Amino acid sequence: MIKVKCASCGSDMDCPPSMESAPVHICASCFENQPPELDTIPSGRAHIEIDPRSLVEPPKGTLMGREDEYFDILYPIEKIIANYYWQNPNLKDRDVIKVLKSLTSNMEIRAWHSLRNELWLMVDEIAKKNGRTDREIRMCYKYVLASVKRHHAVGGQRGYLDFIVEYLEGKG
Ligand SMILES: [Zn+2]
Repeated sequence: MIKVKCASCGSDMDCPPSMESAPVHICASCFENQPPELDTIPSGRAHIEIDPRSLVEPPKGTLMGREDEYFDILYPIEKIIANYYWQNPNLKDRDVIKVLKSLTSNMEIRAWHSLRNELWLMVDEIAKKNGRTDREIRMCYKYVLASVKRHHAVGGQRGYLDFIVEYLEGKG
């Protein structure tokens, strides 16, 4: 392992030799918490440190590897975000992260955003029709949130949004 510095907080982090040439390194804690400084880091192929805890125990209550079972909720969530972005090109990954965070917690409407409203109303209706529980809906939001964070770290300001638009176009 080589020592490198996190581009956001500046703390030392380990880097496998294969990732040494990445233009940007982001530590596990910044990746998880998404501090505002992350926005100022230019786009590019970032190396994201893997949280050592995630290697010891698989994350509980995630639907990693079971995406197909939850397609009926995951698809509308991503579709609504993509449509919203299409109508509001000023939207940034950071806005989506905030909205999804507020939807994954039990907190009542604190971070009001019209995207949050759209998701909340439309996804809830679809999910209830399919007999999904609130817990399942939250798990789906968490899953999408993790995906937004990943693409944001690698692709910059709109890394996720540009990815999802392209991805959904490919699916037709
Ligand atoms: Zn950091």
